Amino acid sequence: MSRIRFKAIEDSMNRQPLVVPTPEGGVSAYFGENVFGLDAMRQFLSEGAYNSVKGAMERGERIDRKMADEVAAGMKAWAITKGANHYTHWFQPLTGATAEKHDAFFEPVDGGRAIERFGGSQLVQQEPDASSFPNGGIRNTFEARGYTAWDPSSPAFIIGDTLCIPTIFVSYTGEALDFKTPLMKALHALDKAAVDVCQYFDKNVTKVIATLGWEQEYFLVDESLFNARPDLAISGRSLFGAAPAKGQQLEDHYFGSIPDRVTSFMRELEIESHKLGIPIKTRHNEVAPNQFECAPIFEEINIAVDHNQLLMDLMARIGRRHNFRVLLHEKPFAGVNGSGKHNNWSLATNTGKNLLSPGKTPKTNLQFLTFFINTVKAFHDNADLLRAVIASAGNDHRLGANEAPPAIMSVFLGSQLSAVLDEIEKKAKTGKMTTEERTALKLNIGKIPDILLDNTDRNRTSPFAFTGNKFEFRAVGSSANCAGAMTVLNTIMTDQLIAFKKEVDAQVAKGKDKDDAIFVILANYITETKRIRFEGNGYGEEWVKEAKKRGLNNFRTTPEALEAWMDKRFVKMFERHNVLSEREQHARYEIYLETYVKKIQIEGRVLGDLAVNNIIPVALQYQNVLISNVKGLKDVLGAAEFRKAAAIQLEMITEISNHVAGIKNGVDAMTEERRKANNIDDWQKKAYAYCNKVKPYFDTIREHIDKLEMLVADEAWPFPKYREILFTK
Ligand code: ADP
Ligand code: MG
Repeated sequence: MSRIRFKAIEDSMNRQPLVVPTPEGGVSAYFGENVFGLDAMRQFLSEGAYNSVKGAMERGERIDRKMADEVAAGMKAWAITKGANHYTHWFQPLTGATAEKHDAFFEPVDGGRAIERFGGSQLVQQEPDASSFPNGGIRNTFEARGYTAWDPSSPAFIIGDTLCIPTIFVSYTGEALDFKTPLMKALHALDKAAVDVCQYFDKNVTKVIATLGWEQEYFLVDESLFNARPDLAISGRSLFGAAPAKGQQLEDHYFGSIPDRVTSFMRELEIESHKLGIPIKTRHNEVAPNQFECAPIFEEINIAVDHNQLLMDLMARIGRRHNFRVLLHEKPFAGVNGSGKHNNWSLATNTGKNLLSPGKTPKTNLQFLTFFINTVKAFHDNADLLRAVIASAGNDHRLGANEAPPAIMSVFLGSQLSAVLDEIEKKAKTGKMTTEERTALKLNIGKIPDILLDNTDRNRTSPFAFTGNKFEFRAVGSSANCAGAMTVLNTIMTDQLIAFKKEVDAQVAKGKDKDDAIFVILANYITETKRIRFEGNGYGEEWVKEAKKRGLNNFRTTPEALEAWMDKRFVKMFERHNVLSEREQHARYEIYLETYVKKIQIEGRVLGDLAVNNIIPVALQYQNVLISNVKGLKDVLGAAEFRKAAAIQLEMITEISNHVAGIKNGVDAMTEERRKANNIDDWQKKAYAYCNKVKPYFDTIREHIDKLEMLVADEAWPFPKYREILFTK
């Protein structure tokens, strides 16, 4: 009956792994070969042009027009040797995907000929016809156009036949319309704030960069099965599907052997990533069936963000060559784990020191404790903002379900460091510390690293965990642009470090010893932030109760979580550090609400269509089979025997009717709520309406569909089932 489903299963079973040839010479021979990095620049640029790009990369210096022309010429020459014939400004609008508009290198000239053309002006600035990107009203009221501007701090690269130039995307009135602009501003602010604090400990520190190592989780689904599930294809997640007999309960997938077809996909992904300079290092299976993860070596955040965006793009492209569709949705399947994107974050100095790595000498220990405790303080004071920045329709299914970090923001430090903090607090409380005591404390802390480096002290249920030499923000969604979370994290850290320095300086001005002042202030922070520290099981119900007692927020839905964007305290903080203006924040708030509404709206439409047009008809057809069976029995059996023989069928007929009615009534009521919600103009109210009035019907409708899936003949069921989607290799 459903030829599509059977064809899809057949296709998926007959797939052979592609042979992926390994390029010659090992990774070192081709790593970064498609990137206009320092080596390529040295070869294709004059010394002056090379130095001006380097100055821009390292010190944010301006590149003048003449130099830009030279850089463009060199970049083009390099790109053409790589077979490129188009170029594009590559940017990261607030949709979450990346955007590109390809232009050819050539321009037609008189006489029907063409000349190759790509100069400084094409490199530096473009005006994409991008009026359909979300702008939260900025461009409607001010100026209709936006433009992209070259970001020389992230190197250009080639994909296929196109030279891609990383850019930022701003409106003509200067407002950021993308993820990168505020991120770069936050990183700039952090550099200064962190260097100022480092100066207490080490005069040689003149630059601090923030580092990011992301871990990308994803699902792979066979292309034919994917195409036979319009809910997956259109909304990115399955909106129905009965739980398979076997899910992840055996935990046999995690770190299990990787199937051949997946291995060849991963192999090609690695090779192409390496050619683009993305330092992918690990790959393994994840907890859920057909779920995987890959992670690179950490990099400076600006580059790491670009690399993650590029990787997501590559995954989709390469996946298709292997007849896979890559699902980046946070929760594509109910009942099995969802996908996250852990953001490992730390700070590194120009002197080669990781500021979140416990030191071996008393001086570096105090520096470590300073950055460590200031991070905890920043997280504590701005927890709602961190919750806001990871909010999305997809992530709502993950946070707070019993598998991902809860929606309650807390910090895990591990028993060793918790003990250290408690000791500092106690010592500071008992009055003045003697010099010996201070030294003792410092020496004590000197023992930390050895214990920390063995990874037993781990908590996988915390949204923000210290893991020995970095913090891991684990609540970020798998489809998110890391730049969102990283902008917030680095801004709150900036704000905190500035406040800390002010306090220390004030104490020192009063004649207090600097180290003492630092200890006392850190001790106060330890006291003030206690409620945010949690070392227990974040998945448990007890934590929800305990967190409530502690006064920690638990925003379970996106509209609730997003409200923090408009909190005056946060608005002022972003303004203070010149990361986002109030207008820009307001625009962002609207865009996030709008995106949320549209996602739920699309899901509602797809679910309604499939339920009414595909599932109800199949259920009724099967019911007719049962009805003719009953009629036949009645013809051939006597009354008493008939009653016995037809009992189950009659029950099933009624059950099917009930589920059909449940679906149809649910869809009708949902559609009515959608209509009402669509008439609301205010984005916040609209988002709440979609969240509280429309979305709850998804569950009721689904429940009936999943029951029908178990009732109706397998051969009649029109859509690939969970067991087929999740267990084909
Ligand atoms: P584990 O796998 O035990 O969590 P890893 O050291 O492999 O520990 O780290 C996991 C991720 O954290 C990787 O992506 C890695 O690049 C990243 N990472 C490690 N050190 C840092 C750091 N200093 N800053 C940012 N990310 C880091
Ligand atoms: Mg991790």
